[in-house]
Amino acid sequence: MISILSGGTGTPKLLQGMVRVANPEDITVIVNTIENDYFSGVYVAPDVDTVIYTLAGIINEDTWYGVKDDSFVTHERLKEIGCPETLRIGDRDRALKIQKTILMENKSLSQAIDIQRKELGIKSTVIPMSDQESHITINTHEGEMEFHEFLVEHQGKPEVLDINYQKVDPAIGVIESIENSDIVVIGPSNPITSIEPIISAKDVRKALKNAYVVAVSPIIGNQPVSGPAAKFMEARGYEVSSLGVAGIYQDFLDRFIIDVLDVDYQEEIEKLISDVMLTQTIMRNVNDKINLARCILGENV
Ligand code: GDP
Repeated sequence: MISILSGGTGTPKLLQGMVRVANPEDITVIVNTIENDYFSGVYVAPDVDTVIYTLAGIINEDTWYGVKDDSFVTHERLKEIGCPETLRIGDRDRALKIQKTILMENKSLSQAIDIQRKELGIKSTVIPMSDQESHITINTHEGEMEFHEFLVEHQGKPEVLDINYQKVDPAIGVIESIENSDIVVIGPSNPITSIEPIISAKDVRKALKNAYVVAVSPIIGNQPVSGPAAKFMEARGYEVSSLGVAGIYQDFLDRFIIDVLDVDYQEEIEKLISDVMLTQTIMRNVNDKINLARCILGENV
């Protein structure tokens, strides 16, 4: 059994390698839900949707959200009639979001995801970190903002002072999955807004301390491969480097995989985590993804 903690860009790339290296049925993906919200009347679970679209082979790999080759008829029409959307939701993507919203009228998010992933032919299990509602705000020099307001409307530009969200209870299956896994993988995801919300769900950190946990750094040199992780790490007082990420995960991490380019950080990181491994962690193509998955699983496959 393999549990993988995921956000919505870096870890989904890794999942494409994981399902080729391990038996997909042995994989459970535990996905961040802190950014979930309603947009244009539909429930949007950005990271969950990216994970299930990735595993179903329909993800738009240019943006790591939405369905590939989608049309935007409804999105454009909404703009014309004076209802512009914060998120650019494609038509096929919207259909799946509407389906999830309808399912959630009498089912939990976990149940709705399970129905959708089976319909999409996904063999791995996908669990949201929580079935509880969550709310994340970004405190900036320009005031307090909703997450998507900061990221989409303000394009992640304002200076970040702090990130706030409430801790939630884990969904059924989260703790069990971690406890029953031979290896728990923390993919290269945003440590502050994707991974930390999962880790701070009740009892997750305790379960991780008892598990064999391997993480991949999302930071190479002094910047993330993509996205706003640097601003969020700085706001929390962490150095933007694999050493800074090691500081966030050190109390439960057994092995830390950093990029070959970060060899200069190795010695300092080994003071926090004894088992540090160097490999190429940038995933440009499917071979990179397979190689990284092999490196993570090692003899645990
Ligand atoms: P979000 O939910 O869209 O923020 O996505 P994630 O949290 O899953 O991933 C964002 C993080 O993935 C960023 O901090 C990136 O630096 C990292 N990332 C994206 N692609 C890669 C990659 O190919 N290799 C590594 N090491 N990190 C990556």
